[in-house]
Amino acid sequence: MQIIQSIEELRSIIREWRKEGLSVGLVPTMGYLHEGHKSLIVKAVSENDKVVVSDFVNPTQFGVNEDLSSYPRDIDRDAALCQEAGASLIFHPQAQEMYSKDHCTFVDMDSLTKGLCGKTRPTHFRGVCTVVSKLFHIVTPDRAYFGEKDAQQLAVIRRMARDLNFDITIVGCPIVREADGLAMSSRNTYLSGEERKAALILHKSLMLVEEMMKAGEQDAAVIEEAIVRSMKTEPLAEIDYVEIVDAETLEPAAKIDRPVLTATAVYIGSTRLIDNFSFQPQTF
Ligand code: AMP
Repeated sequence: MQIIQSIEELRSIIREWRKEGLSVGLVPTMGYLHEGHKSLIVKAVSENDKVVVSDFVNPTQFGVNEDLSSYPRDIDRDAALCQEAGASLIFHPQAQEMYSKDHCTFVDMDSLTKGLCGKTRPTHFRGVCTVVSKLFHIVTPDRAYFGEKDAQQLAVIRRMARDLNFDITIVGCPIVREADGLAMSSRNTYLSGEERKAALILHKSLMLVEEMMKAGEQDAAVIEEAIVRSMKTEPLAEIDYVEIVDAETLEPAAKIDRPVLTATAVYIGSTRLIDNFSFQPQTF
């Protein structure tokens, strides 16, 4: 399996695939791959003739005081995982290949990006939309695969693909968790042993939400209060946000009377973790 660094080289390979009439799937990642990423690649392999995994720590989606320089990287390990999952190639460009010095064009979105993670990371989704647009133009995939782990990102990408008429099917894939429930994330590597145990509070609190919603609780404020109370039982956890929102518009939902997303971001020590739970009432 090839690791390609140049946009031109990747384009010429894709042109050859297209001449043969082959379909192409794209799995955008920032590398340091785990079983969550692998599930996206395996799904892409099952639905496309060729699969490109992009492995690029995108600088434009990091805020000034965020973890761009310390974000974990291991291309050899990533290559082994991609090969095992059946990917056709890894696109692993340097930052200067993706962004020339005088790069000044960005893709931004008015709604969907202001709340949830957008509140504390105001430039994050501009960076995500920009790099994903660039990858869509470079790879021109038939389908692109994103995890429900980053539920706001998935909603943003779906909207961007619709608004900008990308002829690409956006495929959402379920959250992959560790055996004890912690959502897999490249950032879990930052956690100390004690923090790793404390991080379980995210999933535990979201399971409480599931229980309440399935039992028929309709008042979002009551559920939010319960989840905050649950999070506060963990001394190492500091809530960034806990919100119940409409699954499509990401606007706050007062009542559980349509598909909703309960999303949370929590600091465990200095590591910011996100998780979520999607729910569709039976009467909907
Ligand atoms: P990242 O490398 O963190 O930018 O993630 C790349 C893609 O993998 C995104 O679409 C994520 O939503 C997805 N992903 C990351 N972690 C998981 C997980 N635990 N389960 C499912 N998908 C995931």
